[in-house]
Amino acid sequence: MATAIKDANQARDIKQPKALPAPNSDFYELAETLNPEERSLVKQVRAFTESKLAPVINRYWADDAFPFELLPALRELKIGGLGLEGYGCRGGSQKLFGFVMMELARIDPSFSTFFGVHDGLAMGSIYLDGSEEQKQKWLPQMARLEKIGCFGLTEPLVGSGAAGGLTTTAKREGDTWVLNGEKRWIGNAPWCDLSIIWARDLADNQVKGFIIENKTTPGFSVEKIERKIALKVVQNGHITLTNCRVPEANRLQAGNSFRDTARVLRMTRYMVGWMATGCQMGAYENALLYSQQRLQFGKPIGSFQLMQDLLAKMLANITACQCMLLRLAELDDEGKLNDQHAALSKGFCTARSRETVAWAREVFGGNGIVTDYNVARFFADAEALYSYEGTFQMQNLIVGKAITGFSAFV
Ligand SMILES: Cc1cc2nc3c(=O)[nH]c(=O)nc-3n(C[C@H](O)[C@H](O)[C@H](O)COP(=O)(O)OP(=O)(O)OC[C@H]3O[C@@H](n4cnc5c(N)ncnc54)[C@H](O)[C@@H]3O)c2cc1C
Repeated sequence: MATAIKDANQARDIKQPKALPAPNSDFYELAETLNPEERSLVKQVRAFTESKLAPVINRYWADDAFPFELLPALRELKIGGLGLEGYGCRGGSQKLFGFVMMELARIDPSFSTFFGVHDGLAMGSIYLDGSEEQKQKWLPQMARLEKIGCFGLTEPLVGSGAAGGLTTTAKREGDTWVLNGEKRWIGNAPWCDLSIIWARDLADNQVKGFIIENKTTPGFSVEKIERKIALKVVQNGHITLTNCRVPEANRLQAGNSFRDTARVLRMTRYMVGWMATGCQMGAYENALLYSQQRLQFGKPIGSFQLMQDLLAKMLANITACQCMLLRLAELDDEGKLNDQHAALSKGFCTARSRETVAWAREVFGGNGIVTDYNVARFFADAEALYSYEGTFQMQNLIVGKAITGFSAFV
């Protein structure tokens, strides 16, 4: 009897390896605010990103190439036209759209950018500024991801100042418009089917939008921008329009000034906030996992106080961004989203993202600069998210104007 008790005590004293908590970047359980149908879609997107995108993305990123092989599986998710109602679009709340963008960016910010440009910027332009006939014609095939779109606003010499300074011109000749100029940085442009091109009408000096069929419109040419250090999977193009003739039927009929372009940007800008949050989540989860496994001084580096400080700061950034965006999505769903709301979140989330990915990279030491370790990509990509769709300074000028009543745009 005494021997049996001694054996039992010894068995109890043998230390079992401790089960460590799995990385979870939804610390405040915000996914619980989605309804069951929405949660199920987000889960399907996660299954796609983890099983199909994650295994191949580092290779594509290193090669500056787009993973066309994934388009069939993406089509099966039926998420084309998320956030847009009717016309064969997936529809759903802005909150759902945001969660899906965050989910895509959690594995790869380039892939979420490709989808955001198509769904938000290109489809959104037709949805908000197109006529009924134009919506019927273009949106269903875009929602099925049969035709992919891009959005051409930025020019080689005009970026932040696009609102008042576009140099690409449009001249009406009967039922045709003649477009001339250049567009730079246009995501998806080197391979996609349709471009939404914003140009200044020479007659009234107002900005108008045009749907151009890239592959069949004479005078339209595009060159891929090479040697990027961020969002390398997104193919960005430099478009040249030389006496490019576009029928009046392809002018966005409800877009008559830059105000109508800005309506599209309002919707898509805070989506970049969701992407920047997904980017942080991916970097944080990988860093946490690494900190649980990497040993120094005979112990996991995650057991050191200074490492835990970094991890806690990352999680605080992520959680702050998620909460901010969740409220913003509610405002959007209630029809109360305005430019300054969108600008505040885009600026804040992308700035926090830069901080978070730098801390995540730090956790990896030297391995943090090698693509294979799944952190360098996020580190580099956060730089592009910070600058595109309006730089940090532009977002703060929009907020500054709203809160002070003074416009500081020069
Ligand atoms: C990866 C990537 C993808 C992109 N995709 C697209 C796309 O699909 N379609 C598209 O149209 N565009 C796209 N862009 C362009 C992007 O929106 C612009 O790069 C961005 O708006 C900034 O313009 P810019 O690069 O010309 O910088 P600039 O406007 O030249 O700005 C340079 C610096 O000056 C600062 N600055 C400018 N004016 C002021 C001021 N008044 N006060 C204080 N600071 C100021 C800016 O904040 C910035 O720091 C993309 C860019 C990148 C990098």
